[in-house]
Amino acid sequence: MFVDSQRLHIAVQKSGRLADYSRGLLRDAGLKIQNGKNALTARVDNFPIDLMFVRDDDIPTFVADGVCEFGMVGLNVLEEFALDQPEARFDVVAPLGFGRCALRIAAPEAFAYSGPEVLAGERIATSYPRLLKRFLDDRGIDATVVKMTGAVELAPRLGIARFVCDLVSTGATLEANGLVPVETVMESEAVLVRTRRALNPEKQELSENLLRRIEGVLATQESKYIMLNAPEAALGQISAILPGAEAPTIIPLAGTPGHFAVHAVCKESVFWETLQKLKAAGASAILVMPIEKMMM
Ligand code: ATP
Ligand code: ZN
Repeated sequence: MFVDSQRLHIAVQKSGRLADYSRGLLRDAGLKIQNGKNALTARVDNFPIDLMFVRDDDIPTFVADGVCEFGMVGLNVLEEFALDQPEARFDVVAPLGFGRCALRIAAPEAFAYSGPEVLAGERIATSYPRLLKRFLDDRGIDATVVKMTGAVELAPRLGIARFVCDLVSTGATLEANGLVPVETVMESEAVLVRTRRALNPEKQELSENLLRRIEGVLATQESKYIMLNAPEAALGQISAILPGAEAPTIIPLAGTPGHFAVHAVCKESVFWETLQKLKAAGASAILVMPIEKMMM
């Protein structure tokens, strides 16, 4: 693959569960990505950045080798890789809030599972042999780990293994195969990884700019702008209820002495419950608005 050393490279999954979210996040961060879904790379028009579309399994290698300065990949894939190559040179910079799943051990529905001890001497099929082995070793359990690259949930039916250890989000695939999750080996979501190799000053600056933008997008996904009115006596209690807000802006309301408008950015989810609490504390005319962009 030809790599232009003057440009920053971000490895994202070519197709699969993370592909659309990864591109979407970069677009939300303001990167104008040229089209071409089947290409191996895509240029970004407004920054010296190229996207590299690869299999998720290759992303840790690309980032560790410095072929790509950044990558977006499931923590599960990254940790499995890191267990094999502890010297690999990358750092996790941020969880990305998509691709949430868990690596779980599942047993046949009819099996009376009473704890991890029952796995001793059993065969467990998985695509994540090192993560599973670590889980078993930590508990002193001696079981046979059978590596499969796909269709792990079919292993029991095929007589390859009695148990499986696979990624689960809703659990529907396991259920459809007569399996029930019994242990969680790890929780996972997509993360942004950065190479530990040194970057030249221009790339360093660009990478910091990119990080700030991505952090801005992640922050706005949860954040809301809240406006409300309240009497002076309620201001302390209201400020304490506002979730994840920094010092709110408090403005006197014209014509109603002792009453104020409170404006605040809340960096955590605002639930109906929060609104009810605000109201009970004396707030009225409460408005919650989405934030389109934010740079702190
Ligand atoms: P590739 O062709 O890139 O190798 P893949 O088949 O290995 O793709 P996908 O099935 O697209 O990978 O999953 C990519 C990542 O999505 C997983 O490694 C995991 O981090 C995340 N993910 C989220 N939910 C699930 C799920 N229910 N099953 C599998 N992966 C999930
Ligand atoms: Zn893969």
